[in-house]
Amino acid sequence: MHLTEKEEAAEILRISGVKADNCMQCGKCSAACPAGAKMDILPHRFVWELMNGRVNNLAASNTLWQCLSCFTCSARCPRGVDPAKLIEAVRLSVIRKQGENRLNVDELPAEIDEMMPQQALVSALRKYNK
Ligand code: SF4
Ligand code: SF4
Repeated sequence: MHLTEKEEAAEILRISGVKADNCMQCGKCSAACPAGAKMDILPHRFVWELMNGRVNNLAASNTLWQCLSCFTCSARCPRGVDPAKLIEAVRLSVIRKQGENRLNVDELPAEIDEMMPQQALVSALRKYNK
C-alpha cells in the first residue's frame, strides 16, 4: 500500500502514541538538546514538520542520525510531548524502508543466551517487528 507523505506522517504519529498536537512550539526541547548544534532540524521544528505532514523533509534530515536518544527534550517538555520518540519513529521508518532492522521470530536461534532477560527479547520483538 502506497501512502502519501501526509498519510505516512499521520501513521507515524499514530503508531508513536505521542500527543504532538499538545506542542506549543516553545522551543524548550531544542534549547536543552545537547546535539542541537549539529542538527539541521531542531526537536521543536521536528515536531512541527511531522504535524504538518512533511515527513520526507525529516527523512532527509541529519537530525535522525545526530540525535543521541538521551530523552532530555522529552523530559524538558512542559506539555508532555515526546520529541525523542518522534525522531526515533521517523528514523526507524527510514531504516525499515531500506529493508533492515526487522526481527523475524522464525529467524531467532533455537537457543539464546540464558542470561538474557526475557523482557529484552519481548521488548526487541515489540520494537523491531512492526
Ligand atoms: S518543549 Fe514540548 S511544547 Fe515546547 S516545542 Fe518542544 S515539544 Fe513542543
Ligand atoms: S533525544 Fe535527541 S533530540 Fe532529544 S535532547 Fe537528546 S539528542 Fe536532542
